[in-house]
Amino acid sequence: MAAHVPERMCVVCRTHLPKIKARRYGLNTNQQVEYDKTGTLPGRGVYVCSQNCYDKIHRGLLPLLTKSKKREKV
Ligand SMILES: [Zn+2]
Repeated sequence: MAAHVPERMCVVCRTHLPKIKARRYGLNTNQQVEYDKTGTLPGRGVYVCSQNCYDKIHRGLLPLLTKSKKREKV
């Protein structure tokens, strides 16, 4: 039927959802967590499926993003 739809996984509840519905958060140039509305922030992003999940993770986003960024290079 449809062409392949890119999927992303919510970091909180691990639900898979179409990329278009996922909210991407990444680090901006000030090393702060930013909602990556356009998907253009460099580096790794994390995906969240809903406001509910965002509320659960938002304090953990920064360590998550900075940690994974370091790990990616290893
Ligand atoms: Zn979720």
